[in-house]
Amino acid sequence: MPGWNGWPLGAPNMPNTRVVCVIGGGPAGMMAAIAAASSGARVSLWEKNGSLGRKLLATGNGRCNLTNRDPDPRHYRGGGREHVARALSAFGPGPSLEFFGNLGVEHRYDDRGRCYPASNEAGSVLSALEHELTRLGVEIGARNEIVAVERGRSGFVVRQRGQDHRCDVVVLACGGAASPQFGANGGGFELARQLGHRITEIRPSLVPLELAGNWFHKLQGVRLDLTMSSCGPFPITDEGLFTHYGLSGPLALRASRALVDGTGPCILNFTPGLDQGTVLRKLRRRREQLAGRTSAELLCGWLPEKVGRMLVRESGIAADQQVPTVSDALLEVLAGRIVAFPVAIKALRGLKEAQVTAGGVDAAEIDPGTMGSTRVPGLHFCGEIVDVDGDSGGYNLQWCWSSGWVAGAAAGGLNRG
Ligand SMILES: Cc1cc2nc3c(=O)[nH]c(=O)nc-3n(C[C@H](O)[C@H](O)[C@H](O)COP(=O)(O)OP(=O)(O)OC[C@H]3O[C@@H](n4cnc5c(N)ncnc54)[C@H](O)[C@@H]3O)c2cc1C
Repeated sequence: MPGWNGWPLGAPNMPNTRVVCVIGGGPAGMMAAIAAASSGARVSLWEKNGSLGRKLLATGNGRCNLTNRDPDPRHYRGGGREHVARALSAFGPGPSLEFFGNLGVEHRYDDRGRCYPASNEAGSVLSALEHELTRLGVEIGARNEIVAVERGRSGFVVRQRGQDHRCDVVVLACGGAASPQFGANGGGFELARQLGHRITEIRPSLVPLELAGNWFHKLQGVRLDLTMSSCGPFPITDEGLFTHYGLSGPLALRASRALVDGTGPCILNFTPGLDQGTVLRKLRRRREQLAGRTSAELLCGWLPEKVGRMLVRESGIAADQQVPTVSDALLEVLAGRIVAFPVAIKALRGLKEAQVTAGGVDAAEIDPGTMGSTRVPGLHFCGEIVDVDGDSGGYNLQWCWSSGWVAGAAAGGLNRG
């Protein structure tokens, strides 16, 4: 597999006669179309929505977490570990950011290593990709759903309702089944199945958590950093967002990947980094400082007010009790609740609310060097349709850039494995 040699590849370099159809105008499909056109092929990109990149526009709350400072393949799951390692080594975060930089998209990192466009706007990433597609002469067919792909004696027939297209090579970049409101609704799996590919079990990943009980009902809308432990091999510290059903935000999404069957007990620390002894000392100090206040206000100014009231209530302290009269024993219970609040996770929310799909086209049937099918010559895959899903933090878009580049370059004839 050729590595990254800088962008543009000299586009369109050495025009060839290959006709490539890319199905799906998300980040993976756009990158594949750009790489294929840069290799000199004639490329068309088919998208069923009225415009390209609808899900891309929603990423990172509209800010688009492009990639991550730590590109290690251990941030990915599914059957395609080797595919991830090979794609990242061919076109990882460095080349991806250089590619976007050449299109005018500068970047910045936040304090957790997440990388965003400097503009903080997903729209600027989409617009750069669209300009590059146009510059390379890629034919874009929006509002065109592909309903079947058939392998003929020479090449493929790609069928829309009422129209057929012939091509030599097909790249399936139809996305998965998560957040179907943005376009990808699992239809790509059906196309792959029709072509003889196996689809592994489909599950939601990076998805909010439903919690048991009603202790969190009054916390709806509260955001704060929390540490969650006992739900997976490592404690996770990140921002949580309380909702009417439980917990969302990056913390919940990250934890959802660690939960084997989507349920189970876990522990929340409302003061990440502090242990029970430190919290207890702090509480004793506050008991002296806050004479004249009621215990409902004991944590006010330290933790968000609604969280403070909930923790006091759940520790069995009467809200109207005067702070100086709260006993040492109750302060100890409160300290325990603050650093180790027991939580029962009832269920994961469904695919509709998931950011990505776990499962997909069986990676065992895909060549990791070209992202080409080992069953159907001339068929390639990239992005979420493949049985690869990444952590929260830019890993899923990085998979799209990396696998899209590898699949597109191979489809265009540049990279033959
Ligand atoms: C709310 C939200 C926030 C996210 N934030 C981030 C983030 O900040 N960072 C990150 O790394 N990841 C993020 N993700 C995940 C990321 O968006 C996906 O991993 C990525 O979009 C997958 O790209 P894709 O091109 O494979 O699929 P998609 O983006 O789903 O694109 C596939 C496209 O194919 C089209 N299509 C499907 N079937 C057909 C057909 N038969 N014919 C024609 N067109 C078809 C669909 O309409 C769709 O436009 C987020 C996801 C969501 C839902």
